[in-house]
Amino acid sequence: MDQALFDLVYQAVARRDTRYDGVYYTGVKTTGIVCRPSCRARTPKPDNVAFYPSLEKALEAGFRPCKRCRPDEGGPLRPDAVLAAQADAVISAGYGERLTLSGLAGRLKVSAAHLHRTYKEVTGLTPAAKLDQVRLDKARGLLRFGRMPVSEIGRAVGFRGASHFAAWFHRHTGASPTEYRERIQGGTANEPEDNIPARP
Ligand SMILES: [Zn+2]
Repeated sequence: MDQALFDLVYQAVARRDTRYDGVYYTGVKTTGIVCRPSCRARTPKPDNVAFYPSLEKALEAGFRPCKRCRPDEGGPLRPDAVLAAQADAVISAGYGERLTLSGLAGRLKVSAAHLHRTYKEVTGLTPAAKLDQVRLDKARGLLRFGRMPVSEIGRAVGFRGASHFAAWFHRHTGASPTEYRERIQGGTANEPEDNIPARP
């Protein structure tokens, strides 16, 4: 598991978020117990955690199922949810790269059509729409605070050409990146952060 994916799943553990339940299993090295990511028990330190893609793998590694969150009573694995969660992990870690549906599908070792259909069934969004959403959130954040040049922001969210980035941003928000920044930063600098609208 690479660091970006580890961080994502660990965040779910820290927040007791259920999104990775049935997808990953949390082995806690200090206690020898394996939990669901959402277990209500005290959050272990990252150094003491190992994530396993199945309960069987965690049991093989010597962990015993937690009596509190009962990862062994989770029912059958939901392969569609697993695939969607894996796609989310790749999108969250790779939104700054050139990421296509077929590239994403290739990394997950499924066909593009299968990924598209399954992802939409599980999340209600297409993978492309999800990627747009992640990139827009990041771009808005970078435009809202700081002075990073627009072209650099475009590159940071996966666009090589500044004009391509600007056109894409305008299509989704109704403003160019420069207009958006001026609207958010201009005239509101002395107001509390809470008064700055999240969306144009
Ligand atoms: Zn537990």
